[in-house]
Amino acid sequence: MPGGWGGLVLTALVVFLISDLLLSFFGNEATTTISYTEFNNQLNKGNITKIYSKGDSIEGTLKSAQPKPDGGKGDYTEFDTQRPSFAGDNLWATLQQHGVEVTATSPVQQRSFLTNLLISLAPMLLLIFIWVLLARRMAGGLGAGPLGRKAPPKPVTAEQGKRTTFADVAGIDEVEAELTEVVDYLKNPDQYRRLGAKMPRGVLLSGPPGTGKTLLARAVAGEADVPFFSASASEFIEMIVGVGASRVRELFAEARKVAPAIIFIDEIDTIGRQRGAGGGMGGHDEREQTLNQILTEMDGFTGSEGVIVIAATNRADVLDPALLRPGRFDRRITVSPPDREGRAAILRIHTRAVPLAGGADLNQLAKVTPGMTGAELANLVNEAALLAVKRKQDTVNERDLSDALEKVQLGAVRPLVMPQEERERTAYHESGHALLGMLQPGADPVRKITIVPRGRALGVTLSTPENDRYSYTEPYLRGRIIGALGGMAAEQVVYGVITTGAESDLEQVTSIARGMAGRWGMSERVGRLTAVPADAQGAGTYGLSAAPTTLDAVDEEARRIVAECYEDAVRLLTEQRHRLDALAAALLEAETLDEEQAYRAAGVPRKTSEEDGPDASGGKSIDRA
Ligand code: ADP
Ligand code: MG
Ligand code: ZN
Repeated sequence: MPGGWGGLVLTALVVFLISDLLLSFFGNEATTTISYTEFNNQLNKGNITKIYSKGDSIEGTLKSAQPKPDGGKGDYTEFDTQRPSFAGDNLWATLQQHGVEVTATSPVQQRSFLTNLLISLAPMLLLIFIWVLLARRMAGGLGAGPLGRKAPPKPVTAEQGKRTTFADVAGIDEVEAELTEVVDYLKNPDQYRRLGAKMPRGVLLSGPPGTGKTLLARAVAGEADVPFFSASASEFIEMIVGVGASRVRELFAEARKVAPAIIFIDEIDTIGRQRGAGGGMGGHDEREQTLNQILTEMDGFTGSEGVIVIAATNRADVLDPALLRPGRFDRRITVSPPDREGRAAILRIHTRAVPLAGGADLNQLAKVTPGMTGAELANLVNEAALLAVKRKQDTVNERDLSDALEKVQLGAVRPLVMPQEERERTAYHESGHALLGMLQPGADPVRKITIVPRGRALGVTLSTPENDRYSYTEPYLRGRIIGALGGMAAEQVVYGVITTGAESDLEQVTSIARGMAGRWGMSERVGRLTAVPADAQGAGTYGLSAAPTTLDAVDEEARRIVAECYEDAVRLLTEQRHRLDALAAALLEAETLDEEQAYRAAGVPRKTSEEDGPDASGGKSIDRA
C-alpha cells in the first residue's frame, strides 16, 4: 500500500482527536476548574446550590454565574475543584449551613449505562472500523473500489480503441514470423484441435528494454482479434499475502471463459526469479505463491482451451528454470535491438503521423543510430517533432532530426557558466578521448566532440560504429579502453594532475577490462572460462562465481590490461602533443566539433573504415561529471 504508514499515523491522529472531542462533549465540557479558595469564597457568599463529591474532588453548580477565575472569556456556573487533604475546615457543617444539596456520587455515573459504555468504547470501535476498511481495500488490490469490491481483470477487447497490429511493429521480422503461428492458432483453434496439434501454452519474449516486447504481445492479440488480459507481475506482489495467487486464478478463469484469449504477464522476472535466490526481504513467499499458481494454472491447460500466456522479461537469465520447462514457457523468443534496415522501418512507422520536410532522410538517420532500440527511436522522432513545434515550422526537417539526435545521444544542454580554466581542462580532456579514438586502428570513428555541458557531463565525445557490430575483437576492446582513458591521460600529460572528472570513464574501463579477463577468455592467466557473472548482482546472491584465486587472477589481469592501456595512452598523447593542442584549441574556439572538423583540426586522415567490428551501442563516453 503506497504511503501506508503515513496513512496509518494520520488515521490514528484523527481517531484520537475525534474521541477526545466526543469525551469532552459528553463529559464535563461546561465545568470550570477553580481553586479551593475560590470555592470557599463562593460557598461563604451562599452562591452554591448543589455539589457532587467523590473523595476529595468536588463538582457543583453556582446560583449566579461568576466571571471565570483564570481571566478566560465568559462566566461559569458549573465548576470542579479539589479539596486539599490537609484542609481542616468543617466543610460538611458549612455546606449545611448554606443549604447546599450534597450528593456523594460522580456525575459520570449519573449518565445512563449505555452512554458510558459508548464513550469508553468509541475510540476502539472507530479504530476497528478503519482497520477493517483498510484491510478490505488492500485485499481489493488494484481496481478495487473505495469499499473494496474487487473488479475482475478487464479484457481489452477489439471494441476498445484502436488495436495494435503487426503493422505497428518493425525491425523484428524473425520474431514476427514466429508469432504468426500463434496468431494463426488463436484465429482457428478448431483446425488445430481437429488434427490434435497442441500449441505452446506459453511464449516468453526476452530482450533489452524498449525493443518492443510489450508492443508485440499487444500486436499478437490485435492480429488474432482475441481478448487481451494484461497484468504486470509486480501488480501481484504489491498486494497483501495470498492475494497474488488468487488474482492469478481469477485472471486465468476469466481468460478461459472468453477463450481464445491471450494472457500477458509483463516483467515476469519480478515473480519468476529463481526460487530461493535473491529477494531476501519479505514478499518472498508471496512471490513464490504467485509463481506457483501461474505454473499450476499452466499445467492445468489441456492444450485445447485456446488460452496462450505471453510473458515478457528483460532478464531471462534470472528466471526460475521451472518456468522454462516444456509445457510452460517452452517457446522462447529473443527480441534484439533492430539492425539498420529495421531502424529505418521503425522510423517510418513512427513518422507516419509526422509531416516530414523533403530533405529529411530516414535511411541516413538509421545509419547513424546503431544500437538504438525501437523505444529510443520513437523518442527521437518525438523530440524532433517537439523541436519543430518550438521553431514554429510546418514540417519536421533534417536539422530538427539531427538536433534531436544530438540531444538524445549527448543529453540536454545544461546552462552552466564555466570558468575559463575549467573549460580548457575539459577541452584537453575531451581532445584526449577523441584523439586516441582517431588513432586506434579499427576503432569507431569520432562523430562529435563538445565542451558544452550536457546532462550530467561537462563534455562529451561521441563515437559510433560505421556498421552495426555484433561481436568485439580484443584489439578493438583495448582501443576502447585506451580511448576511455584518454581524458585522464590528457590531463596527466598537460597539467600533471588528475581531476575527479574521469569517474564515469573509469567505470567504463573497469567493466571492459573485467569482461576481457573474466568473461571473454582474453587473458592467458585466467584461462578460457567465465569467472565473473554477467550480472553483477548475481555475485552477491549466489556467492562467489569462481574460486577466490581465480577471482584474484581476474582482478590482477584486469589491472594489468588497464595499466598497459594507460601507458599506451600517455605515450601516444605525449608523442602527438601537437595534435592534442591543436584539437583542444579548435574545441575551445568552436565548443562543438563534428566529425569532419574534428579530424581536420587534429590533422588525422579520416579512415575509410572497412573493418567490421563489434557494435557497441555507440562508443559514447559521457564525461567529467
Ligand atoms: P519493451 O516492452 O520491450 O520494453 P515496449 O514494447 O514497451 O518495449 O516499447 C516501447 C515503445 O517503443 C513502443 O510503444 C513503440 O512505440 C516503440 N517500439 C519499440 N520497439 C518497436 C518496434 N520494433 N517497432 C515499432 N515501434 C517500437
Ligand atoms: Mg515492456
Ligand atoms: Zn572522460
